[in-house]
Amino acid sequence: METRTAPQIAEARLLEATHALLKTVRQTDLEAIDRQKAKALAARLREVLNQHAYRYYVLDHPLIPDADYDLLMQALRKLEARFPELVTPDSPTQRVGGPPLERFEKVRHPEPLLSLNNAFGEEDVRAWYERCCRMLAEQLGHPVQPAVTAELKIDGLAMALTYENGVLTVGATRGDGIEGENVTQNVRTIPAVPLRIPVDPSVGPPPVRLEVRGEVYMRKRDFERLNEQLQARGERTFANPRNAAAGSVRQLNPQVTASRPLSFFAYGIGPVEGAEVPDSQYEVLQWLGRLGFPVNEHARRFEQLEDMLEYCRYWTEHRDELDYEIDGVVLKIDHRPWQALLGAISNAPRWAVAYKFPAREAITRLLDIMVSVGRTGVVKPVAVLEPVEVGGVTVSQATLHNEDYVRSRDIRIGDLVVVIRAGDVIPQVVRPVVEARTGNERLWRMPERCPSCGSPLVRLPGEADYYCVASDCPAQFVRLLEHFASRDAMDIEGMGSQVARQLAESGLVRRLSDLYRLKLEDLLKLEGFAETRARNLLRAIEASKQRPLSRLLFGLGIRHVGKTTAELLVQRFASIDELAAATLDELAAIEGVGPITAESIANWFRVEDNRRLIEELKELGVNMQRLPEEAPAAESPVRAKTFVLTGALPHLTRKEAEELIKRAGGRVASSVSRNTDYVVVGENPGSKYDRARQLGIPMLDEDGLLRLLGIK
Ligand code: NAD
Repeated sequence: METRTAPQIAEARLLEATHALLKTVRQTDLEAIDRQKAKALAARLREVLNQHAYRYYVLDHPLIPDADYDLLMQALRKLEARFPELVTPDSPTQRVGGPPLERFEKVRHPEPLLSLNNAFGEEDVRAWYERCCRMLAEQLGHPVQPAVTAELKIDGLAMALTYENGVLTVGATRGDGIEGENVTQNVRTIPAVPLRIPVDPSVGPPPVRLEVRGEVYMRKRDFERLNEQLQARGERTFANPRNAAAGSVRQLNPQVTASRPLSFFAYGIGPVEGAEVPDSQYEVLQWLGRLGFPVNEHARRFEQLEDMLEYCRYWTEHRDELDYEIDGVVLKIDHRPWQALLGAISNAPRWAVAYKFPAREAITRLLDIMVSVGRTGVVKPVAVLEPVEVGGVTVSQATLHNEDYVRSRDIRIGDLVVVIRAGDVIPQVVRPVVEARTGNERLWRMPERCPSCGSPLVRLPGEADYYCVASDCPAQFVRLLEHFASRDAMDIEGMGSQVARQLAESGLVRRLSDLYRLKLEDLLKLEGFAETRARNLLRAIEASKQRPLSRLLFGLGIRHVGKTTAELLVQRFASIDELAAATLDELAAIEGVGPITAESIANWFRVEDNRRLIEELKELGVNMQRLPEEAPAAESPVRAKTFVLTGALPHLTRKEAEELIKRAGGRVASSVSRNTDYVVVGENPGSKYDRARQLGIPMLDEDGLLRLLGIK
């Protein structure tokens, strides 16, 4: 067993304690806990949170995902709200950030740099806004509905820049809010930070003194490149762009900072002398822009609570389109004199709130690794996890992709691991928390035989995956059946994975064609099938006979034939017989079908049993012809053109717009390049818009798109 150093043991203990606390917090009703238990729990939370805060703020080396930290912090806040006597001066709820590093000269902030209170969900935002309205009404003596400026919450490092007579004199980190670190030399190397405020006649002379507050951050692609370079040099990499930015600014050698691709957004001001500052936060942003500071383009001012919430929702969905990380949205009461009336509590202003995006990451225990057999025989390792809630969904299994993935990331059974779940994507284990290792973790190896049929697994040269190549493997057939019935294939309602398994395991369905031979009395034999359910399923199976040919093709599970390829094939061949008779060259000549796919299709039709299956399906009445709606689009200006969509369109959803373009023979890509023909721009467009502008790519709005498609 490896010998571990004292700090390594301490880290492992901290992680063990954190993991235990996360479980306790998730399982405990904090509203009902008694005082004594609350006191003990609060003490443990304080202890653990303080240690993580130190690693995050001081060392720039967090051990756990932010969402897990936030969950513990939220729990502590709840306990302190219920039992205010539990609030101690060393509670992390009472403080901002961490102390400045000794190796830097300290700077005392003329006005404290505060943190932000969090809103986890729309209810919290509503409660915050209503509280602001109530407090302002009390102070002003009449009801008000204050406007709010909504900004992206850039995930970087807070920075206070002092300008004297237009010249940058001090750059300071937030530190503990009262004192920060003097990083002036380092900040001077960031190209986006103006060294001098340009004298602009439209703005007047620069203020005598001005403190600009903003965020130093690193773009995602710069972060990835930096990590690649660090890795190549054998140096420690950064966990995320925020830590990379913080670690790069808090360097003793400004040359190192200069070599790091840092950027900056200004989002506010501290004390100002000798200038007329606008009364509105939104206008302050414009003013900063005129003074030469980079200001984020996505800030908006809203009068209605509903619009603020819509902005939060919009960015929750579209955050990945930005080329920098954001971890939420900051909402600020726009009228600055009203901000002053609302004031601050302990470590955060009352006039602002940070709407935090739902969690996408969490740590949990990897209990085991099992393998699952897919419909093509591909065998994949699957993580069996101690159930953990990620973004409102309980995750107990996650993908581990393939053997190389598990090896290269050194993921071991028994590890604490970081699990991510983004949108509809299948949850995946991204890395082990190596610091938590105790030495009892076990290495994993791909089994030699298929867990379902016992035949030897093979790994084809040049492929990362292992396959079970047995043609009669039961697990593969269950998956194929499930796929055949799925929404994008034959769309057989009521036939999910459970029913597919029952049908296969009972022996009622041994090949796909058996589905269309099922009788009422067969189904009634299955557990959970009474007459109504059985009849409904038979009706759904019957209805699937009329599906478009492309769906049948997709449903057959031919390797490399996805939905889009199936559609392309049907545009070229009007029936399954025509497709079966096609030569390799004819198949490969179809745009969008490569030689590998062509070969896979030809091979599939060469197998006697597959040809028999097609004949059986035909006899049972399954459609084998191209339907009128699948016919190739007439020559249109959209044919073979590549579109990129950005922003919300007024009437069409993203999916609808994509469908329309594809139906007319166009393609939809996810990022803008020189090969893009059109960019369709909606409300709140992302960075794709900027890129399109740089490259001079023609842009369309929804109307323009509909006209081009000949719909309007
Ligand atoms: P915060 O980062 O949540 O919010 C305050 C900061 O937001 C400000 O200091 C500012 O730098 C930034 N910000 C970005 N855009 C802004 C904008 N447009 N307007 C105003 N401010 C903007 O607060 P915090 O208290 O410093 O840190 C808490 C965060 O740090 C949480 O996300 C927490 O999860 C994370 N954290 C993680 C760990 C860990 O171990 N993983 C430990 C400690 C803290």
